[in-house]
Amino acid sequence: MSFVLTTPLYYVNDKPHLGSVYTTIICDCIARFKRLLGEDVIFITGVDEHGLKIQRTAQEKNIEAKTHCDEISEIFNLNWKKWDISFDKFIRTSSKNHELIVNEFYERVKASGDIYMGVQKGWYCVGCEEFKDNPENSSSYKCPIHQKNLEWKNEENLFFRLSKYQKQIEKIINEPSFIVPIERRNEIVNFVSRGLKDFSISRTNVSWGIPVPGYGNHTFYVWFDALLGYISAISSNSPDPSLEKSINGGWPADIHLIGKDILRFHAVYWPAMLISAGIKVPKKVLGHGFLTREGQKMGKSLGNVLDPDQLLSKYGNDPVRWYLIKDISLGNDGDFQDKRFVDIINNDLANTIGNLLNRTSSMSRKWFDNKVPIIEKKSNTNKLENFANIAVKNYLQKFDIYKLDLAANEVLNLAINTNLYLNDNQPWLLIKEKDNLPLVKEIIYNVLESTRIIGLLLLPLLPELSSKINEQLGSIYKKEIPWKKQLSWGLLINNSSLPKPSPIINKLEYEQ
Ligand SMILES: [Zn+2]
Repeated sequence: MSFVLTTPLYYVNDKPHLGSVYTTIICDCIARFKRLLGEDVIFITGVDEHGLKIQRTAQEKNIEAKTHCDEISEIFNLNWKKWDISFDKFIRTSSKNHELIVNEFYERVKASGDIYMGVQKGWYCVGCEEFKDNPENSSSYKCPIHQKNLEWKNEENLFFRLSKYQKQIEKIINEPSFIVPIERRNEIVNFVSRGLKDFSISRTNVSWGIPVPGYGNHTFYVWFDALLGYISAISSNSPDPSLEKSINGGWPADIHLIGKDILRFHAVYWPAMLISAGIKVPKKVLGHGFLTREGQKMGKSLGNVLDPDQLLSKYGNDPVRWYLIKDISLGNDGDFQDKRFVDIINNDLANTIGNLLNRTSSMSRKWFDNKVPIIEKKSNTNKLENFANIAVKNYLQKFDIYKLDLAANEVLNLAINTNLYLNDNQPWLLIKEKDNLPLVKEIIYNVLESTRIIGLLLLPLLPELSSKINEQLGSIYKKEIPWKKQLSWGLLINNSSLPKPSPIINKLEYEQ
């Protein structure tokens, strides 16, 4: 059994923004965590390439839609490599294998009697690719999200009988584990309780899309196309991909991680489409919040868009990851603040974790011949061992329910407690008395051992920093031994060599 998790398939009208980087980093942490637990992970990301908006963007650039998509898709693909994202599949919805699977899926839904021809009239937002309710109630015919004029549409479309699945969808969304966090579930429960309406799954004026078999000028509605990417990705490397192969290859997804703006498509439309096609629904949909900057919504017109590329080149991967993971409670909205960012990185990573490692390793090298001390006798109670064991237990628990911020805080708290232990025991004073040597050895060993565990706990969160910590302890993560086992206390080898320490993370300067 595989553990399948997905980012949204990102829309290729522009290069990745901070929100996409955030979602993808969170998915990456979960994927790494599950792999460390020994699970067979399929981590899917990719791009959603069809639709009117892309068609128009390409027209504006005076190039073919395909050329535009090739360009932006490549940017996404390279971007995730730059961020060291451990994805297994990168699906493009303009690929041939994806089209095959959309067609197969459509045939199944049709065979269930859930497709019919109807007339679609209404106000449409091209940005959202969605019809909007009752614009006459608002002062302008504008999309509240995009602030762009809505377009009136009146055309023959194929419809999907969503209304038929009212009861089944109610049952699924009332399952507490299906939509998280709970605020998101409540929004969807409200929406569904107003009664599900059939929605159109084809367009007649969009040439950049997958043609609907048997309906000359119709192409599939982007969502009836893009959502299938999660399934087509699974068999994308197979010489003859098919729906059946994908389903047998790991479906259903264990978790779809998405922004809250596209929750309705994932938690309502998608499960209904899947039931209609006789396919299992995903196990969980996690809708995270939006990111603001210094308390303000980011937008091109405001000129305050934070470019993730610049963040990466200025600060590096680990600091950005740490801030996004630790400072934002997954599911809630988050705010990016420059000063706060610098403070958190300096406090948590440079001072609390980095200095702890550096000064302890330096003491040990100085007093014990560049080595980890040999413990001669053990005290009956070891405070630090208890702290570490509790931290590991809590961390695993929090990670398991996707409370990544709380898991990160467990690691940080262990580091804080380790610093306190060191300061309380003051081995630099004890060492002056020869009789204290066994005690000093024990203290230094405990601190180094706790730091080793901190390093290992950081492995799914901050892979780079984690490796640096453990390299500096001369105790790297060993693939052949289960990770959980390596989190047990007491595995740092007595009398093993300690490499010369160097700062594992640089302090950041705050520039106004
Ligand atoms: Zn819109």
